[in-house]
Amino acid sequence: MHRADFDAASYPWVRQALQQANQALRQADFSCLLAGDGEFLPGVAYTRGCPLCDHSAANARRLFRAHGMHIMACAVCGFVYSRDVLISGAEQARYRQSQSRWL
Ligand SMILES: [Zn+2]
Repeated sequence: MHRADFDAASYPWVRQALQQANQALRQADFSCLLAGDGEFLPGVAYTRGCPLCDHSAANARRLFRAHGMHIMACAVCGFVYSRDVLISGAEQARYRQSQSRWL
């Protein structure tokens, strides 16, 4: 089997292990982190290349965008990953900042 043919979601134990995280992601409110065009605001996230082979995201194929995250298929190994990674703590800081404007 080639690693590009591997689909982790086809294994029930993987889906079960990620169920809580996926549910939290679906219910999360990312609106305070996104600009009007649906992209992350500056300083909230960083972009990366393929976490499997480290190839640049610039040559990867964009599959879709959800919650500001660009889901990419690596041009070299085919691994599917999120190009955008939230900066730890940025979402809490942004949330506190957005609340303070209304107090
Ligand atoms: Zn890759």
